[in-house]
Amino acid sequence: MRRTGDLKLIQELNRFIILDTIRQHGPISRSDIAKKQGISPTTVTSAVNELIRDGVVAEDGTGESKGGRKPIMVRFCPDGKFLIGVSITNTAITIAEMNLEAATKRKQVYPVGPGLVSDRMVQYVLDSIADFLTQAADTERCLGISIIAPGIVDAASGVIRFNSKLRLTDVPLKELAEQRFGMSTWLDNDANAIALAEKNFGVGIEADNLLFVTVGEGVGSGLVVNGSIFRGSRGGAGEFGHTTVDRSGMRCDCGNVGCLENYVAWPAIYTGLLSAIARGKETLVLELAGGDMTQITFEVFRRALQQKDQVCEDIVEEIAAYLSIGIVNLVNLFNPSLIILGGEMMRDNQVLFERIEKQVREQAMGIMVDGLEFRPTMLGADFEVKAAAAVLLQDVFHFSL
Ligand SMILES: [Zn+2]
Repeated sequence: MRRTGDLKLIQELNRFIILDTIRQHGPISRSDIAKKQGISPTTVTSAVNELIRDGVVAEDGTGESKGGRKPIMVRFCPDGKFLIGVSITNTAITIAEMNLEAATKRKQVYPVGPGLVSDRMVQYVLDSIADFLTQAADTERCLGISIIAPGIVDAASGVIRFNSKLRLTDVPLKELAEQRFGMSTWLDNDANAIALAEKNFGVGIEADNLLFVTVGEGVGSGLVVNGSIFRGSRGGAGEFGHTTVDRSGMRCDCGNVGCLENYVAWPAIYTGLLSAIARGKETLVLELAGGDMTQITFEVFRRALQQKDQVCEDIVEEIAAYLSIGIVNLVNLFNPSLIILGGEMMRDNQVLFERIEKQVREQAMGIMVDGLEFRPTMLGADFEVKAAAAVLLQDVFHFSL
């Protein structure tokens, strides 16, 4: 039995190597794959036949003859299969149909209204996926569903352990989705998934030790240590938003006081803007929001900042100061070679980006910042579903795009 197991594993590994070779070097002939990877031509032929049957590889004309018959070329078919990427946040559920290169084919956003928490939220997630699937192309070609969510997620067992804002505790979301949809399902923490996407097909391809920090509705981080996501013993590693920056600070949902998130995430910024307006400070924010306080959004904040609004600039300075403290701690702890900054707050926010980089370079240990690179995320508007896709593609194909 053991032998069969080993043999099957070797065949599977060969298949991944062959698929990856076709993906990176295709169109390529079967004999060139064999030569490149040192795998026997018969093994390559049978694996390629299987991949063609699966629809992920296709024959594509003939190549140059090297004496003898012209070889038939094969290429990767990213649209041969698809996956469903799902991103859960406190404000919306984003679902997309994506191909094997993590390109979005169709996307829909299901808003999360106030008060939608706990069991009702879980039900809403499942109902939204069901709604999306009613319009999905032939589900036979679907590899499965990959869900990312904020909070503490146990990726191995597919359970959301804890999310204070959505009031979720021990939700076996992977199992619930598999039961309802009869499709393989993956679940991971959002920041970890984005860090993986950055490592596999974003700006972090070259980095084995990288730190991804996201600032938006909340604050999170994903750490790649020695090439793999660092998860901690219960999947909770990277809860950057709940690291303490003020021992006598504001009370946080998590039970502690002075958590970083409460000083730099959007709810704190929004409150800061409202209080500046209440104190009669001059700011463009209210005007840009059409005089309606409820219309003050990230976008409004960004626009006011671009117009050098003093209130907004002061807020950015404050955010930069707090975030830098947190990032300095992470740099001195983990010594990454690359820090990627993302999230709604960082988007098109060059001022904030530069301030953080400057302060971290000044405050962290010299040896740690020597050679340390700072980059904005490059995953684009579909970053959440791309991150969900990265989790599934890494697991199924072991490849980075
Ligand atoms: Zn906290």
